[in-house]
Amino acid sequence: MFIKRLELINFRNYSNLNIEFINGFNILYGQNAQGKTNILEAINYLSLLKSHRSVKDKELIKWGKGKAYIKGVFQKNLGDFSVEVLISEESRKEAKLNGIKQNKASEVIGNANVVIFSPDDLRLVKEGPEVRRKFIDNELNQIKPKYQYYLSLYNKALFQRNNLLKSNFDKSLIDVYDQQLAEYGSYIVFHRIEFIKKLSIICRLFHRKITDGKEELVIRYKGDVYEEDINKIKEKLYLSYKNSIEEDLKKGYTSKGPQRDDLQIFLNGVDAKTFASQGQQRTAAISLKLSEIEIIKGERGEYPILLLDDVMSELDILRQKHLLDSLKGLQIILTITGIDDLGRLDFKNKKIFEVVDGRVQIKE
Ligand code: ATP
Ligand code: MG
Repeated sequence: MFIKRLELINFRNYSNLNIEFINGFNILYGQNAQGKTNILEAINYLSLLKSHRSVKDKELIKWGKGKAYIKGVFQKNLGDFSVEVLISEESRKEAKLNGIKQNKASEVIGNANVVIFSPDDLRLVKEGPEVRRKFIDNELNQIKPKYQYYLSLYNKALFQRNNLLKSNFDKSLIDVYDQQLAEYGSYIVFHRIEFIKKLSIICRLFHRKITDGKEELVIRYKGDVYEEDINKIKEKLYLSYKNSIEEDLKKGYTSKGPQRDDLQIFLNGVDAKTFASQGQQRTAAISLKLSEIEIIKGERGEYPILLLDDVMSELDILRQKHLLDSLKGLQIILTITGIDDLGRLDFKNKKIFEVVDGRVQIKE
């Protein structure tokens, strides 16, 4: 899939923008704070109807204006389609698919498939487990429609169990929550294990390509329960809540369960979080995140559009080259601050745009 045209009116620092992309490498270059990321944000918004920068819709409207408009024309195997969104200060946002207004956001979300890699994703390896859980949950939300639902049920029951642990209520009620947590938790753990298995194969291959065969990336699910069968997971989870009740009462929170899950990452046999260099950690984060491309291809039958925000500057020239080589066949829109690095890279089928203060000029 690729985006052919993007139109923006009063979106972030753009008053009026109309650009055409090619189905190859599209390079947006410019100094800091000119509007490069804003363009990627707009494209990603057309896919998810929300910003990847976790901001409120209103913040996307150009300062001093009342409405922002984004339109994208996309092409997939089956033909062209368009997505339009009107974001307004006063009313709910309006979204159109092929010019027809849609009442349900779910009719619009996911038509355009986009994978965005932003500098924040570079934290995936070196930071705490929360970042990695969020990564897995986000991926699963995209491919398993019920996942988000079970996750919210689990979190609700967890919140209630934790409240009970801290209060003077009848502790026998805790068993009700243990059963609920085991029920919802087993769905979450089962899908996480299955997903990580799939991901581990893909990211290992991808990582070999970027590092020219020098590094072996291995990922593993780390949780309180590891079973293939969902009923076994449920039984074991239930037992682990039961067995930890004394400890939980002392601590005042639930100490076992998928809320503590993590993804272990090894590079050439050692723990990447503790031992890998900065560049190695970044490369591993890229391999993990970009494996999503293959997973989406497997689910949808077509490659997504890849948005790379400021990724190149973090890698040495060889890794940059291998990364770009392994991404052939996709539409890529990437941002960079310096044009110099590009000269050293061999892009075929490229279009270069210079971004200056909310305006875009075609360079090549
Ligand atoms: P960097 O290289 O530093 O990442 P960038 O080119 O990616 O820079 P953007 O994040 O796209 O820069 O933002 C460019 C500018 O957009 C910001 O400096 C900010 O002043 C401006 N901006 C952000 N939101 C709005 C808004 N709602 N209205 C007007 N301007 C905005
Ligand atoms: Mg930026």
